[in-house]
Amino acid sequence: MPVAKVIVDVPTMQTNRPYDYEIPTALAESVQPGMRVWVPFGHRDVAGMVVAIDAAPTFTGELKSISSVLDPAPVLNAELLALAHWLADTTYAFWISCIQTMLPTMLKVDTDKTVTAATPAGEAMLTAPEVSLTAMTDQTELAKLLRGVASGDLVVHYRRHDRAKVKTETHAVPLLTPAEYSKAAAALRANATQQRALLQTLSDWAAAGQQPAIAESQLPRAPFTAAAKRGWVRLEEREVYRDPYPELRGAKLTTPLPLTADQQPVVATVTAAVAARRAETFLLEGVTGSGKTEVYLQIIAQAIAAGRTALMLVPEIALTPQMVHRVTGRFGRQVAVLHSGLSDGEKFDEWRRIQRGEAKIVVGARSAAFAPLTNIGVFIIDEEHETSYKQDDAPRYHARDVVLHRAATFGAPVVLGSATPSLESRARAEKGVYTLLRLPERINQQPMPPVTIIDMRDAMKKSGQEDFSQELLTALQDRVARHEQSVLLLNRRGFSSFVMCRECGYVVQCPNCDISLTLHMDTHTLRCHYCGHEEPIPHRCPSCGSTKIRYYGTGTQKVEAKLNELLPEARVLRMDVDTTRKKGGHAKLLAKFGRHEADILLGTQMIAKGLDFPDVTLVGVINADTGLGLPDFRASERTFQLLTQVSGRAGRADKPGSVIIQTFNPDHYAITYAKHHDYEGFFRREMAIRHLGHYPPYYFTIKLTVSHQSAEQAAKAIYSLAKTLKAGLTPAAIVLGPTPGAIARLKNRYYYQIVVKYTREPKLAATLTQILDSTQQSGRQGFQVAIDREPQSFV
Ligand code: ADP
Ligand code: ZN
Ligand code: ZN
Repeated sequence: MPVAKVIVDVPTMQTNRPYDYEIPTALAESVQPGMRVWVPFGHRDVAGMVVAIDAAPTFTGELKSISSVLDPAPVLNAELLALAHWLADTTYAFWISCIQTMLPTMLKVDTDKTVTAATPAGEAMLTAPEVSLTAMTDQTELAKLLRGVASGDLVVHYRRHDRAKVKTETHAVPLLTPAEYSKAAAALRANATQQRALLQTLSDWAAAGQQPAIAESQLPRAPFTAAAKRGWVRLEEREVYRDPYPELRGAKLTTPLPLTADQQPVVATVTAAVAARRAETFLLEGVTGSGKTEVYLQIIAQAIAAGRTALMLVPEIALTPQMVHRVTGRFGRQVAVLHSGLSDGEKFDEWRRIQRGEAKIVVGARSAAFAPLTNIGVFIIDEEHETSYKQDDAPRYHARDVVLHRAATFGAPVVLGSATPSLESRARAEKGVYTLLRLPERINQQPMPPVTIIDMRDAMKKSGQEDFSQELLTALQDRVARHEQSVLLLNRRGFSSFVMCRECGYVVQCPNCDISLTLHMDTHTLRCHYCGHEEPIPHRCPSCGSTKIRYYGTGTQKVEAKLNELLPEARVLRMDVDTTRKKGGHAKLLAKFGRHEADILLGTQMIAKGLDFPDVTLVGVINADTGLGLPDFRASERTFQLLTQVSGRAGRADKPGSVIIQTFNPDHYAITYAKHHDYEGFFRREMAIRHLGHYPPYYFTIKLTVSHQSAEQAAKAIYSLAKTLKAGLTPAAIVLGPTPGAIARLKNRYYYQIVVKYTREPKLAATLTQILDSTQQSGRQGFQVAIDREPQSFV
């Protein structure tokens, strides 16, 4: 008797073990792996995913049967199901959460769990009569509820929940011939003008063989309904796709550019691997403006011409609209775009266009690595060094790893592109694991812009203020006078404006987190960026009562105000989280700058990426080194990448550009190598430092975090985890901690962590799997355990 192996969605029962279910005879033909089903679990039905059909059960007890099947066809094919399993194994995550990550929101395997109070004790735990577990974001509250469920004080009700909504349009299908329509019109009363007009329209459509959507015909719907009753027309609901880029329909496509002598061998080498179906990884190291994007487009074109498909990842689409436009501009509706800026409906439709083979090229951010393309011929990851490719929440995966795994499955090459490759990738190229390809020069042999380093320790004394050196001000003034544009970067990494008392040094802190509150000038409040706590700016120091409490540091709003004061003739456009919060806000600001409606674009990290404006001839960096002070082994790498990227924004067209970097650490190697556009020099120097400190890429790393509402409980738990972990390690492993987390308290939870650095630990995977399995138990007691393979930082 065949059984279905089902991974169920029950938060109180997190496990990687599939459950066996009998397939009722009525469903015998229709159940396949990759389908969502509804199955009995405990005393109720829950959602699940069929991951396999086995000939016989492994479970020896009495089997329950599948209640119903949600999908007419699998939503995950065999390759993607295997990928979900691999993802769970390699990221130490639950299988169900991997499946959720791979599906669009509308197809989530989702049981809506509602908790109801069952006893007076339970009532005290619930503020509302019913609380949805799925919607709970407060982990402390959730843990409390789960404890209540475990003790029988609370009851969970599971509700079925199917959000997949297909959008339809009503089409009119003419049922008569034009001659018959004329006959019908002749039989109408003389004053039936509306009906006569409709018959004429239907007759025209019948003659032209059209079955148009009523909405597009601009005619009211009522007469159609009446006509349908009389048998003149049939109204048919047809599915339509929600199109996130309607403006592209019918737009003229761009044509490939003749490749330069540098680009040609790159395209030839990669397309040879596509043709040979070789899963080779190429690291394309190309300076900004060297024509990497054109190379990607031509490789994709060749893969498509060979009958294959292509998957391209970009860091964050909201930040790189120009890149998306270049791909859609070349390939039109063959492209599906997947990113968080789309509505759930748009995402669902784009996903189905891919699944049905209607879209052959996918461009998307991190999670697009799971796009349901088949027959993939090439994978491309642009700006491969970007941190946004790593997911911070479970499953804690890196999109690069997912792509490499899929590439091996499909027998397809991968192109990792960057002007500043991650140390990991560059080191692999060094060892011959990846093939290094280079685009060393900008298109048209334009020189890289000259970079001037300003020592702010001197400049501050001269100019009397901390934001602008005289050199930078003069350069900005000069560009305004010449009607050229400037980009100003405010490095916000590890830095924000906070309120400090100049008398006693008190910094206003969040009451829930060990973190200082950030100043928001637009609302005149202080806000916690972690828990959302908000309070008014104090006039007196809460600690000593002094009135000399004021903001400190360089916020974008403060710099904007300063700029307006110092350069009143310059039109400044500010781009930061506040001005880009609305959907599409980022693209609108960029378009405005592109239309030359501002002289200076002032912004945080988000302006460093992918901008290509021909009139930008000056790039200024206000504070290059704020990120360098972070206790993070990647701090120098991040600073170097940021400075190199932003410098690449200057002088992209025929006008030469220049760069001014203000810093308090003019001699730091991350800054001096950036000045000379010397990636190679930086790479050697940084590798030596990583080697000495036993850091990646010389060592692998794992970070384990435990949190609990009680500091004591959290500390106890981390020591017990440390013991389990160490028992499975060789003496060669380096264990850091347990230590309190970099932010020791967040949302009133206490964090402790352990970091392990290692080169070869045969038993580590089994130990971590064992720890993951035990989290179900500890979760009931209010603990949260996170396992992070290759964390972005140790803090
Ligand atoms: P990157 O992605 O490396 O920063 P781009 O692909 O954006 O570089 O190329 C920089 C500029 O050079 C763009 O304006 C692009 O249109 C142009 N370009 C790229 N390849 C060619 C080519 N083969 N011939 C002419 N112009 C090109
Ligand atoms: Zn907070
Ligand atoms: Zn004070």
